[in-house]
Amino acid sequence: MSSLTSITCPSCKTQGMSAFYAAKSVPINSCLMFSTQKEAVNFPRGNVTLGFCKNCGFISNIAFEPSKIDYATLAPEEQGFSATFNTYAHQLANHLIDTYNLHGKHISEIGCGRGDFLALLCELGDNYGVGIDPSTVSGGVQSKAIDRMTFIKDYYSEQYAQYLGDFICCRHTLEHISPTAEFINIIKRSIGNKNTPVFIEVPDVSRILQEVAFWDIYYEHCSYFNLRSLAQLFRFCNFEVTKLEKGYFDQYLLIEAKPVDQKSQKTFEGEESIDKTAKMVSLFSERYEQKLKYWKNELNRIKIEKKRAIVWGSGSKCVAFMTTLEIKDEVQYIVDINPHRHGKFIPGVGKQIVSPEFLKDYKPQTIIIMNPIYQNEIRKMVEGMGISAEYLPCT
Ligand SMILES: [Zn+2]
Repeated sequence: MSSLTSITCPSCKTQGMSAFYAAKSVPINSCLMFSTQKEAVNFPRGNVTLGFCKNCGFISNIAFEPSKIDYATLAPEEQGFSATFNTYAHQLANHLIDTYNLHGKHISEIGCGRGDFLALLCELGDNYGVGIDPSTVSGGVQSKAIDRMTFIKDYYSEQYAQYLGDFICCRHTLEHISPTAEFINIIKRSIGNKNTPVFIEVPDVSRILQEVAFWDIYYEHCSYFNLRSLAQLFRFCNFEVTKLEKGYFDQYLLIEAKPVDQKSQKTFEGEESIDKTAKMVSLFSERYEQKLKYWKNELNRIKIEKKRAIVWGSGSKCVAFMTTLEIKDEVQYIVDINPHRHGKFIPGVGKQIVSPEFLKDYKPQTIIIMNPIYQNEIRKMVEGMGISAEYLPCT
């Protein structure tokens, strides 16, 4: 780890961070797809240098250049195609509706994407929703509650404070924001003297560190939290944390908080000590080299044995995995169940996305699974086509 004394932590404002991971020339957005291979390969790139704050445990890409990404020009992300994910979203929506008695209420979602989750909250609780997101599109989501939903295509700022209703939800957005404390302070100021509850969901960096999941580090994710650094950020910005837990197979962090006048000291079981996080960070650096070697060897074996190999899952994980390993001819196709992605090319290595149906003719011999959560779903589908293959889950 190298010390970066001049860098100030964006979450707790303490000076000095330590750099422990670097990836050069990664696509600046990893969930986009392109119509031609040329566009995909030529897509702009940026650098990742992860810095660790020894005061609050926060991890940030200190090489991040916010001006490189304009979400207003991007298509909103979609995730609602897997049965596993849909079940999770339903359970979460029901939990929030029950906890905050969200019936006939006004709900706002900052960073709503297409508005799938907001629609769920509005449908299940007969609520009214406002979704604010630079990449949102009116009518992007089909919902029975669409008449009760409004979309604002912009980055959230205090000028939209009037739209924050009885409940504020912000899922998978904070990790895209570099000035984390500024953002949470904007929400705090927007709430004013009301006591509107806030729910935020972000990926858990602990799992990335533990599993040395370098495929979960991407340019557009500039901010990485564990339970402690997320809770610290809220306490730092005058919120009291009311619930703090992991969800979705321990991949996500879920925080519920309410604004308070005085700094809250309330902490939760499970919040990692700084020592523990520092140890995980240095262990990650050590084991990263070994992991890289393991995958390079596997890819080399695939090449020597002339196996027809595919990667299952065309999202950000796949782009980071393929870019970091500089995969060229070892893998020819990426499979995705999302029909909107079929025929398109992923940024960086520029491989084409195909449907599961495509495999009937292609008959892959090796299947690299980006998210092992879906391994059973995938195996069932592949075996159902009469294909026997070896499976290499990314763990
Ligand atoms: Zn910090």
